[in-house]
Amino acid sequence: MSLDFTLTKMDNNTIQTNIHAIRDAVPDHVTLVAVSKTQPLDAIASAYAEGIRDFGENRVAELVEKADAFPDDVRWHAIGHLQTNKAKTVAPLSHLIHAVDSTRIYEALALHKNPTPLDVLLQVHIAEESSKFGFLEDELRTLIEMSGNETFGNTSIRIKGLMGMATFTKDTTQIAKEFKGLRSLFEELAPSMGDDFDTLSMGMSGDWNIAINEGSTMIRVGSAIFGARH
Ligand SMILES: *Cc1c(COP(=O)(O)O)cnc(C)c1O
Repeated sequence: MSLDFTLTKMDNNTIQTNIHAIRDAVPDHVTLVAVSKTQPLDAIASAYAEGIRDFGENRVAELVEKADAFPDDVRWHAIGHLQTNKAKTVAPLSHLIHAVDSTRIYEALALHKNPTPLDVLLQVHIAEESSKFGFLEDELRTLIEMSGNETFGNTSIRIKGLMGMATFTKDTTQIAKEFKGLRSLFEELAPSMGDDFDTLSMGMSGDWNIAINEGSTMIRVGSAIFGARH
């Protein structure tokens, strides 16, 4: 694949202004992941120059090419649904995999012999739409039980927390309710998960402020930084 995207309509100044505005509004304990999927390298470079080091990508080929083009201090977040045959490629490039949404992909990642523990989030289905990926609550509990069991458990995977996407709606009460549900699940699980379990990834361009109100520790913001995607 090639990265000869047409340039974004947003120029560097706009990207930098957007980053400043979001940073000013985001508390220190919340990590801002700039979702750079489909964006050209110069747009990423412009966010990088502004001090952003956390970038989110959802396509494997694009992640590979971008990771190669940027310095090693970039923390790449794999935020998209993953196919099991891509696990091997994505694992070594990713600082954090947000979208472990099935036992199959968990197992595929566990097979990979990671030199350092691979940090992942378990994606939970919280939206009303049936199209969004993620574990149902009881499936999630089953996976967590299995991952704690010796034959299935794998120290090369470290479950860092949960991720969820709210329903795409203007109904902020509905969005808040879904995030609140994910937060309480996170808090219920946390005592048995150990100190590494400290990340709650929820909130995108349209709802990150609601998500932070509901306890998010990591927001994934794309279009509000880079403008519309191609
Ligand atoms: C694309 C994407 C985002 C960012 O979406 P915006 O609405 O542009 O902020 C966040 N999370 C996931 C999982 C995505 O796929």
